[in-house]
Amino acid sequence: MQHLYGRFRYSPTGAILNNPLTAAAGLPAFSAIRSEHVRPAVMQVLEQQRQRLKVLERQETPSFDWALQLERINDAVHRLWGPVAHLNAVLSSPEFRDAYNSCLSLITEFGIELGQNRTLHRRFSQLEKLVDHSDRTKVQLISHALRDFRLAGVALEDRARNRFAEIAQNLAQLQASFEQNLMDATDAFQHHETAEEIVAGLPEVVLERSRRAAESKDLPGWLLSLDPPTYVAVMTHAESETLRKRFYEAWVTRASDRGPQARRWDNGSLIEDILRLRHEAAELLGFENYAELSLVTKMASTPMEVFEFLAVLAAKIRPVAKKELRELTEFAGRSLNAWDVDFYAERLKQVRFQLADDELRPYFPLPRVLEGMFRVAETLFGIRISAREGVDSWHPDVRYFEIRSAQDELLGSFFVDLFARPNKRGGAWMDGCLVRARLTGLNQQPVAYLVCNFNPPGEGQPSLLTHNDVVTLFHEFGHTLHYVLTEVDFPSLAGINGVPWDAVELPSQFFENYAWLPEVLPWISSHYRTGETLPVDKLAALNASRTFHAGLSMVRQLELALFDFRLHVEYDPAAGARVAETLAQVRSEVAVIDTPAFNRFACTFSHVFSGGYAAGYYSYKWAEVLAADAFSAFEEHGTFDADTAEKFRRSILASGGSRDTMDAFIEFRGRAPSLAPLLRQAGIQSEGTDVA
Ligand SMILES: [Zn+2]
Repeated sequence: MQHLYGRFRYSPTGAILNNPLTAAAGLPAFSAIRSEHVRPAVMQVLEQQRQRLKVLERQETPSFDWALQLERINDAVHRLWGPVAHLNAVLSSPEFRDAYNSCLSLITEFGIELGQNRTLHRRFSQLEKLVDHSDRTKVQLISHALRDFRLAGVALEDRARNRFAEIAQNLAQLQASFEQNLMDATDAFQHHETAEEIVAGLPEVVLERSRRAAESKDLPGWLLSLDPPTYVAVMTHAESETLRKRFYEAWVTRASDRGPQARRWDNGSLIEDILRLRHEAAELLGFENYAELSLVTKMASTPMEVFEFLAVLAAKIRPVAKKELRELTEFAGRSLNAWDVDFYAERLKQVRFQLADDELRPYFPLPRVLEGMFRVAETLFGIRISAREGVDSWHPDVRYFEIRSAQDELLGSFFVDLFARPNKRGGAWMDGCLVRARLTGLNQQPVAYLVCNFNPPGEGQPSLLTHNDVVTLFHEFGHTLHYVLTEVDFPSLAGINGVPWDAVELPSQFFENYAWLPEVLPWISSHYRTGETLPVDKLAALNASRTFHAGLSMVRQLELALFDFRLHVEYDPAAGARVAETLAQVRSEVAVIDTPAFNRFACTFSHVFSGGYAAGYYSYKWAEVLAADAFSAFEEHGTFDADTAEKFRRSILASGGSRDTMDAFIEFRGRAPSLAPLLRQAGIQSEGTDVA
C-alpha cells in the first residue's frame, strides 16, 4: 500500500502537517511515523477529544447513541496511542522511546480525566435505568462503563480523587521504566567466546547467527546475546556447564542488583514503589488490597477462591513434579543445579522418546507452519486467510494477512512480526491495532498484531522452528482469532476487550491443542530441503513427549501465580514489598527445584510489574482449565467437528466481552467447567474435581 507521508511539512506555527499519527481512518502509516510526530499528534488528538467530551457533557438526556460517542472518543485515543505503544515495543529506538515516555503522562492524564468525569458518570447512571434491559450487550456496555468510572476513583472526595490520579500517573511511569530496564539489560549482555569446546552442543542456527554477530564487530569466534532464542538454546544444548551457568546468571539477574550488570538497570526499587502505590490505590477505592481490586474485572470473585484453586492444583501436581525431578536426577547421575535442569531434561527426552528438540527444526520451516496453522483455522471456522503484499509496516520482516468469510467478506486482518532483534521486547504477544467498530461515522474491521521472538531466517534457509515455537505461534494465533472473529460492534466489548482477564487465555490455550494433533502435524511440517513431512516415528515420539515434565512446568507456573497473588494480597505498608521473603515462602511450598540465592527473578517479571497480569498471573492456569475443557468437547465430537466449532465460535470467540463468560462457557459446554480435562491432558490422574 502506498502511504502519503514520506515527507512531512511544517506549518508556520510549527505543527507538523500530515502527521501520520493523526490520520482519522485506515491502517497506521507505520513507516512514516517518526519520534517527532508523537508529541504534536498527542496534543492535537487529545485536544480534539476534550472538545468532544465537552459536547457530550452538555447533553442532559443521555441515550444509548450518546453513550456510543464515548466509544468513538476512546477509539480515537487508541488509534493515536496504539501505534506509538506498539512501535515502542517492537522498534524501541532511543528517540522513539523518549517520545513515548514524554507523552505517556499526557495519555494517562486523559484517561484519568475521563474516568473521573462526574458529569459523564452521572449520565451513565441515568442511562442504566433507561436502557432496554432485554439487550444484553447494551446492558453490559453500560455496566462496564460504570464499573470503570468507579475503578478510576470517580466517587472519591476531591483530595482522594486527586491522589488517585497522581498514583495512576506514577504507576504508568514506573511500569514503563520496569519494561525498559529489562529490555536494556537484555540487549546489553553479550558473551564473546572463542573456545570451540565452550559452544559445543549449540544448534547450528544459533552458532551461525553468533558467528555473524562476531564478524560484524571484527571479532573471531562467536558473539552470543541474551535474546530469548539464544538463551533457550544455551540452557537446553550447551554442553559446557560454565556457559550455561553464565547465561542462567545473566538471565535471572537482568535489571537487578546482582549479576554481570549489577545495579545498572535495577528494577528492585521500582517493584517496591509499584506495589506500594497499587496498594494505596486499592485502599483509596475501599478494597483491602490490590488483589481484591484486580478481581473486580475477572471471573474469580475473591482472593480465597484463587488461593483455593491454586492449592487444589498444587496438591495434585507437586507429587508428579517431584517424581519427574527424581527421575531426572537419577538420569543425570549428579545433583542438578538450576542451570542443568533444561540441559538434562533434553537429554532424557532424547533417550526416552528418541526425539531431540532441534532435530525437528528442519521439519518446521516458518512458511509451512503458517500455512498449516491457517488451514486449521480455515477448516474449523470456514474462513479463508491470505497474505496481502505491499501493506506498509514498521520492519521489512513484517507480513500482513487478511481473514475472509466463506462468502469472501473481509472479517479482519493481522500483522505478523516474528523474529528476535535488538530493541524489541522479548516474549510473544498479540495486541490490537484496530478494534472492530460499527458506530455512526466509524465502520472499522479489526486488525491485530501477532509478535514473537523466533530465530530469524539464516543464509539461504527459512526460519526453522522448534515444536515449542510452533505451540507459541498457535497460542498467539488463538488470541488473534479471538480478536478478529469478534462480532461485537462496540469497541469496548469487541475482541478481547471487556473479557475478564482470567478468561482471555482461553482461546489461545485452546488453539495450542491443534499444534499437537497427529492429523495437523503433516499440515504444518515439511522438511525445508526435502519437503518430507514429519516421519511417523517422530510424530509418535512428539505426541508421546507432550506430557514430558508436565508436572515440572506446571509447578513453575503455580509458583509464579502464587508469588504474584500473595505479593498483592499480603502487602503491608509497614513492612514493604517483602519480595524475597514471599518468593522464598512460595518456593518452599510449591517449587521442587532449588533456586540459587543470586536469582532475582522478580526484577524480570514484566507480566506483573509492567504488563496486565498484576494479581492476575493465575489467569493462565484458570483459563487453561477452561481451554482444556473446551477442547475436550472437540475430543468427544471430533477435533474438526463443524457443529462444535460453530458453537465455539458463536459462544466464545464472537461474543468478546459482550456477555458473562461463565454463561458463555456453559452455553458452549452444556455444563460448568471441570478440572479433569486439564489434568488428563497433562497426563495426571484426576479424581473428577470440579472448579468454577
Ligand atoms: Zn496468551
